[in-house]
Amino acid sequence: MSELSLHPFRHLYVHIPFCKHKCGYCDFNAYAGMDRLMPDYVDALERELGFARERYTFQELETVYLGGGTPSLLPPHLIARLLGFIRRELNVATDAEVTLEANPASTDEARIEAWMKGGVNRLSLGVQGFDPRALAVLERKTDAAQATRAFRLARAMGMANISVDLIYAVPYQDMAAWIETLRRAIALGPDHVSTYCLSFEEGTLLHRRRAEGRVPEVDSDLQWDQLDAACVELEAAGFRRYEVSNWSRPGFESRHNQAYWRCRPVYGAGAGAHSYATDGTGAWRWWNVARPREYIAATPSPRADGEELEPRKAVAESLMLGLRTADGMTAPAGFDAELSRLVRAGLVERRSGRIVPTRRGLDLHNQIALAVL
Ligand code: SF4
Repeated sequence: MSELSLHPFRHLYVHIPFCKHKCGYCDFNAYAGMDRLMPDYVDALERELGFARERYTFQELETVYLGGGTPSLLPPHLIARLLGFIRRELNVATDAEVTLEANPASTDEARIEAWMKGGVNRLSLGVQGFDPRALAVLERKTDAAQATRAFRLARAMGMANISVDLIYAVPYQDMAAWIETLRRAIALGPDHVSTYCLSFEEGTLLHRRRAEGRVPEVDSDLQWDQLDAACVELEAAGFRRYEVSNWSRPGFESRHNQAYWRCRPVYGAGAGAHSYATDGTGAWRWWNVARPREYIAATPSPRADGEELEPRKAVAESLMLGLRTADGMTAPAGFDAELSRLVRAGLVERRSGRIVPTRRGLDLHNQIALAVL
């Protein structure tokens, strides 16, 4: 890979790995009890980004996404410094989408002010649910009242684009509790809603608890019914399902996530962050060392490893990702047999030169992934 021939980066992801508490279902690169590393971590991010800017071409950034972990945990002076650095050292477009993931418990006036002054114009609020039993299974330390307060405060302070995350198929979350959760989320007036099906990832506390029989299995029929209820409730409220797990009001689709689904180059900074780069003939992916302390020590060059994607694999990935979105994509060459099988299975359809997932294809996207990868 020659850095010089790579397409420029127009999308930046920054990983903030700190959390107050490690939730039992979480397999993200997130750590509790490391808050004292925050100042050194922000220093390290600046070192990495400064080095990356010398090495790669960044054009006007169209999106910046601070994800985690819990980016809202960073104290206001540190997030202000980090956002200021990004604006000063990288070229951020005036109409860029700048998203910050926030936990309701760490969404307060001083922080919202720092985020907005630093250019954050989209908040992704990790509500996850309003039902105390589901929140207890997820070990979320926030409650419905905190989520409601955080949302209203951000809105009142002028945050014009707010997304809410919700989780379904949670043990003890019956249909009535899920519908109530959807309705309470919709009543807040969000612009975007993400609904995730709870997965029991190996290595998590929740996975172990289920294996030990301390948490019941979720009936798979109920899981499908809950997805169906999300479609009914959100569509009735004017949201469009534009991706497998994402819903938005018109014009509020996440521009950053669309960059991933369209296989655009994205630079990932921070512990464990992944970058994706292309040069017109090839595609590369690399990732940083995962643990915050090691990441800090390794900057300015924290890359752990990487790979060049074989040409067919790169196209297969772009097909799999493109078919996550309701608009689909232009059918790539070399996948006629796979696509015909998917059409016959009712998972995708051809529509004016494009290949798009059906409702069934959105629901069963993992079958599309299995067929093309
Ligand atoms: S707050 Fe989010 S990132 Fe942090 S441990 Fe919980 S689920 Fe994981």
